[in-house]
Amino acid sequence: MAGEKCVALIAHDQKKEDMADFARRNRDILAKWRIVATGTTGGRVIDAVPDLSVTRLKSGPLGGDQQIGAMIATGQINALIFFVDPLTPMPHDVDVKALMRLAIVYDIPMALNAATAERLIKTL
Ligand code: PGA
Repeated sequence: MAGEKCVALIAHDQKKEDMADFARRNRDILAKWRIVATGTTGGRVIDAVPDLSVTRLKSGPLGGDQQIGAMIATGQINALIFFVDPLTPMPHDVDVKALMRLAIVYDIPMALNAATAERLIKTL
């Protein structure tokens, strides 16, 4: 919807339960936002909070991170919450880096772990 603020949610596999908990805890705030998410993350968020409206993009390794990067580059994303797994090698590591780079280039508020996300979501 025009004028509506949009938050992008992404969580690597080992962090998806954290993202589901985050969505449950912050349901009322998230309900005021347009939400886009990579495919699997979006599914987990909907399972955790079924009344949230979440647009699911492709799964991250299949291009979802790049879709969100393109949305940042075209001004469609106002905040990025990305729960990164620092302990597991990823086949799409270059996409992850490219997404973070665009969030920096376009100066989008970006949280890469739960502690920061909890603080960020309350300030948006
Ligand atoms: P997924 O993608 O939500 O589809 O698992 C996240 C990622 O690994 O980038």
